[in-house]
Amino acid sequence: MKFKLVLALIAGLFTWTGMAQAVDCAAVRARFQCDAATHYPLHLSFDDGPALQTTEVLQVLKQEKIPATFFVIANKVDCPALEKQCKAEHGSKIQACLQPKQECEQRRQILLQAKRAGHVIGSHSYEHLRYSEVEQGLMREHFRLARQVLDPYLNTTPPLFRLSYGDGWFNRQQHPQVLAALKANGFQHIAWQLSAFDWDENNQQGDKILTNVLEQVCKRRQGGVVLFHDGVHDQLHTGRLFTTTHLKDWIPSLRCVVDFKPLSFFETGYTQRR
Ligand SMILES: [Zn+2]
Repeated sequence: MKFKLVLALIAGLFTWTGMAQAVDCAAVRARFQCDAATHYPLHLSFDDGPALQTTEVLQVLKQEKIPATFFVIANKVDCPALEKQCKAEHGSKIQACLQPKQECEQRRQILLQAKRAGHVIGSHSYEHLRYSEVEQGLMREHFRLARQVLDPYLNTTPPLFRLSYGDGWFNRQQHPQVLAALKANGFQHIAWQLSAFDWDENNQQGDKILTNVLEQVCKRRQGGVVLFHDGVHDQLHTGRLFTTTHLKDWIPSLRCVVDFKPLSFFETGYTQRR
């Protein structure tokens, strides 16, 4: 009797696990009032990295065979500059700079890993600023540095760039100097059509981020480049944890409605180098 009970429990557990993993696509489509059969093209882009947890994102992308784009902040991989800054802050306590140096090297490796996996690597400038409000000399210097520091990683011709907050892009009529300075450094700007709003802490619970994306796709009846974050712009090493942890859970539901495409499906004017 006891044995049967254990068997029943095990069987129940397997059923429950199986059900938890399976996604009811009909229910997803009904909930977001999506077209019955259409799959919309979607490209995943991740800003503000590289971070330690970018590796988790890379793992999911590899497992799911999804091509993505990473727009990275150059000062996170400018190890000589970070070391110089650290030494200036700590004076003779050189020991204090060993770990930051090691972490910076780790971020470089992670970025190389993303490049080797075939993802597009673009620049998200040197720092995370609203460049329409920045003094023009500093803006130009940051774009130049972004190009120089990210040179080993940028893998398109011309190199790609995404402005932080879209500032200088959305308001390009009023502030044409930002795009002009990008062009002067040879960059092509890449915007986004959909946002996961994963930077907003109010969205970092339950399936709100997944809901944001599905709502936009199904309401507009169109896909595009969607903005996610693997990093946090004011933290060097720690990523956008809610996104990096839960991305794997969102993919099956997204697949009910979208087909994952490379960036080249949406953006032209560049070629990707291997
Ligand atoms: Zn950003």
